[in-house]
Amino acid sequence: MRALLLSSLIGTAASAGPVIVIDPGHGGNQDGASSPAGLLEKNLALAISKKLKAKLEADLDAKVKLTRDGDSRLHLDERVGVANRQRPDLFVSIHANSMPTASQRRINEGIETYFLSAAASGEDAKKVAARENAEARQQSKAATSDTLAFILADLQKAETHHDSSRLAYAVHESLIEGTKAQDRGVQQAPFYVLMGLEAPAVLIEVGFVSHPREGERLGDAKYQQQIADSIAGGIKAFLAQVEARDSKRSEGTVPEPGGSK
Ligand SMILES: [Zn+2]
Repeated sequence: MRALLLSSLIGTAASAGPVIVIDPGHGGNQDGASSPAGLLEKNLALAISKKLKAKLEADLDAKVKLTRDGDSRLHLDERVGVANRQRPDLFVSIHANSMPTASQRRINEGIETYFLSAAASGEDAKKVAARENAEARQQSKAATSDTLAFILADLQKAETHHDSSRLAYAVHESLIEGTKAQDRGVQQAPFYVLMGLEAPAVLIEVGFVSHPREGERLGDAKYQQQIADSIAGGIKAFLAQVEARDSKRSEGTVPEPGGSK
């Protein structure tokens, strides 16, 4: 890990934990989705993000930055900028899902975890990305017309992409185990907020606020804590995987005693 390496190199007493950016979706006049009882996605995302921050600081000695820590509006490209300036080890964007019609609202519940790809993994994934990207369309046309170029550039950073996939699976597995929510799988889609990030990045749809039972459950602070703890568990597992890979790699570069170069 960069943070680890850096602090050991310069020998400071600074936090040796990972640097993590958490992005609570929406904010300000952008409410996001809402539940029948009036729970707003922007508030839910912020509540879970704050709990996740506290958990990561306590368990991993992490340096955690929220892209917003109040009810403020932040453009999608500003979120990416805030994140990259931290040079984070990973990025997590927190959102909640909803369905447009009454019959779909009754049926659809569960958790989805996304990582970036140029093509959506299905029709539903495409719709979720379209909804979450709506703010980008409002802010500038150029932003979305450059979308494909952004994605292609990003996908060229193959290792970051591969690590985003690992992060998504680790977090999703931990979430399903920890919350017992319905498993809607790890999916891929072209999310604007994941483009241009220079770190492994995922977007989590923590549940459907539009579902009668799940919407109510999501409003419960204890359940929000369970979600935060589960995400933190997944992040911990991911960081352990990366650390194991990196240490294997550095072993591989150590020359054999007496060996020629
Ligand atoms: Zn959202």
